[in-house]
Amino acid sequence: MLTQAPKGTQDLLPQASYRWQRIEKSMRDICALAGYREIRTPIFEHTELFQRGVGDTTDVVQKEMYTFNDKGNRSVTLKPEGTAGAVRAFIESHLYADTLPCKLYYAACPCFRYEKPQAGRLRQFHQNGIEVFGAKDASVDAEIIALALKVLDANGIDGLRLTINSIGCPTCRKAYLEKLRAYLAPKLPTLCKTCQERFERNPMRILDCKEDADKLTDAPAMLDNLCEDCAGHFEKLQGYLKAMGIEYAIDARIVRGLDYYTKTVFEIITDSPDGTPLTVCGGGRYDGLVEELGGPATPGIGWGMGIERMIMVQDMRGTAPEAPALLDAFVVTLGDEARLEGMKLVNELREKGVKADLDHAARSMKAQFKYAGKIGVKKVIVIAGDELEKGVVKLRDMDESSEAEVARESIVDMLS
Ligand code: ATP
Ligand code: MG
Repeated sequence: MLTQAPKGTQDLLPQASYRWQRIEKSMRDICALAGYREIRTPIFEHTELFQRGVGDTTDVVQKEMYTFNDKGNRSVTLKPEGTAGAVRAFIESHLYADTLPCKLYYAACPCFRYEKPQAGRLRQFHQNGIEVFGAKDASVDAEIIALALKVLDANGIDGLRLTINSIGCPTCRKAYLEKLRAYLAPKLPTLCKTCQERFERNPMRILDCKEDADKLTDAPAMLDNLCEDCAGHFEKLQGYLKAMGIEYAIDARIVRGLDYYTKTVFEIITDSPDGTPLTVCGGGRYDGLVEELGGPATPGIGWGMGIERMIMVQDMRGTAPEAPALLDAFVVTLGDEARLEGMKLVNELREKGVKADLDHAARSMKAQFKYAGKIGVKKVIVIAGDELEKGVVKLRDMDESSEAEVARESIVDMLS
């Protein structure tokens, strides 16, 4: 137990952390180019926020939340996703009073869901995400989709399937839900218990049930029942995607996991090693959510992208980036005086942006060379008694196994 991480969690080890840093950096750079700024919200929130903000008929809220009472006996929940916290912050800090749209992103934000751990499914996972408030035009729907694809592409994850759908708005959904209930009613006894409970309050959720979805392939689709406004929005979105040369497919069966989605929903999907589809990124519009949580009516839209799934796709495709060199230069010393000079030199090198180090384990000179070879450093600088006296260092090129004497005062410039 003591030396085993909790089920469904993973350490990010030093050998792999550069991969996450690259993903995070590309997320930051790409978002900044489109005028997005970062938001960081707490890891835990009042449980009600997710019940209201994600929706209490969703799998996430009904089955997957890490909820507990704190010492003050308040029910708190570790965030299962990023949208609800961002909306809460948007309202609490009156960001709606600033110039809109308010374009936000987060990078590698920890999320927690009590799920059965398996490939690409963890209990603590991490999301890149985008949320935009105060932009109702379909251009922003297309923009955030384009940004998601850019982030994936920048990380060697291209050629995924983009599927889009519209799940309408409260106006057109009302009539549709009646049609859907009429379709579902006779099938209800054959559906799972959760679905039976959802029948009255949120029958669309039933279409998203992993157990029952296959029995419901001929259900009426929201897409065929959109009002004029929603149909127009969906047309415009497609126009923008085409203008940007983004390929997509329409999938009338995507309803997405969260309750407050309106109009556009989309997923970016790949196939896992066993052939089952794996969603790398999912998102949608939530025009009713800010108001639902007590803010002024403000349209919103966003997506979440699983970092562990990105890493998984990189591994599957062999597109993981190469690890950067640990060090550019290693200083080998002999004797106490040389060691003092070595410390000084390493410091100077680092100041000039050269990744440098020296032995900290009291190794013999031979062992220092062996260590330098092991970590694959290309340049080794040798300082011993002779060199100190002559005011030089020896510079060894490990690839070419060549060695040259260099003046102590020029070595830093030479390497930087
Ligand atoms: P799924 O259908 O795979 O359960 P979801 O609809 O629950 O996904 P979202 O709530 O849309 O997922 O979360 C956005 C992204 O976060 C997903 O596309 C996925 O990449 C990632 N994700 C969700 N749940 C997990 C998890 N348990 N482990 C790792 N990544 C996850
Ligand atoms: Mg899920």
